[in-house]
Amino acid sequence: MSAGGPASRAPLRCSHCGREVSGTTHTRADYHVDYYALHTGEVEPVAVHAPDDPEHTLIVLRLIRPIDVYTCVDCFAEPAVRSERERRFRPELASATEAPAG
Ligand SMILES: [Zn+2]
Repeated sequence: MSAGGPASRAPLRCSHCGREVSGTTHTRADYHVDYYALHTGEVEPVAVHAPDDPEHTLIVLRLIRPIDVYTCVDCFAEPAVRSERERRFRPELASATEAPAG
C-alpha cells in the first residue's frame, strides 16, 4: 500500500473498501459528506525512565509513522468498521470531518 504525499492530486480512496471517495458535495437539499478522515499513525512501545523515579521504567507509545485513514460513509455505517477504527487508533487522536454548518 503506497501513500501519496500532501501535494498528490490522486483521488482519495476508502481505506476499508477501496472505493473512491469525494469531498463534501452539494446536493439539492444540503451538504453531503462522503467520507471521514482519521489522522493518526503507527506507534511502537518505548521504555523510558520515569522522571520522578529513574529506577522505574514506563512504557510509552511513540509515533513512528503518521497515517491518514479515510472511511467512506458506507463503511462508516458498519459497526465492525467503527469498532476497528476505535481499536486501531487511540480515541484522542481520532477526528472526523465536520459537516459545514448552514
Ligand atoms: Zn468504504
